[in-house]
Amino acid sequence: MKIGIISDIHSNREALEAVLNKLTNVEQFYCLGDIIGYGADPIYCLEKMKEIDCLCIKGNHEGAITGELELYYFNDYAKQSLEWTMKQLREQDFHYIHSLPKKVDITNDILGVHGSPRQPLWEYILDEQTAEGIFNKFDFKVYFIGHSHVPGIFTFHRNNRIIKYFEATAGADLVLDEKHSYIVNCGSVGQPRDGNPQASYVLFDSEKGVINIKRVNYAIERAQRKIIKAHLPHFLAQRLAIGI
Ligand code: ZN
Repeated sequence: MKIGIISDIHSNREALEAVLNKLTNVEQFYCLGDIIGYGADPIYCLEKMKEIDCLCIKGNHEGAITGELELYYFNDYAKQSLEWTMKQLREQDFHYIHSLPKKVDITNDILGVHGSPRQPLWEYILDEQTAEGIFNKFDFKVYFIGHSHVPGIFTFHRNNRIIKYFEATAGADLVLDEKHSYIVNCGSVGQPRDGNPQASYVLFDSEKGVINIKRVNYAIERAQRKIIKAHLPHFLAQRLAIGI
């Protein structure tokens, strides 16, 4: 099956459209959280998830909407945009966000979560040490994650237990093998933070066992103009151009 995996759309309609235009052959979509927050098009992005029958889970921004995470823990930019987003959301949007689970099984040993299986909404897996804790505690072939907005791959050799990290700033292609388990960070559709402003997404061929992390250009200036027009913090527009 051809599977599209996206994460951290962050209300960026232009980035989401560009990614979906590249994923036209996909049979099933998954979204690993943070559909909303930061950007100016929360309703469009939520509606699009339903339209494409995307299996979505909560991110920390959805956790803020449901009250599972307190706004107190978010930085000022996130907080301001979440308060703005809450004013835009309709009753059905709150229901939808509340209904989202925190983890998803793609197959029996290929799984998805926003942050980490230990703390689904909050923990970042940014280094080998944190990844090691996850590989040791949980049994899986692939964990797809988001949250950091930095695409990359941790590989774990099941015999010698060596962990390696590969960044995917320019994309990456991974062929799954018998010896390894993997944590694959899909990066962010709508607010990349690895210095590459292109939207990030994943194509996963579950029959061939091939994972492609891909990047695509989108209409950044249009997304920026909407953020300014909505009176959201200017930094949220500026950062899109430089991918931070
Ligand atoms: Zn995010």
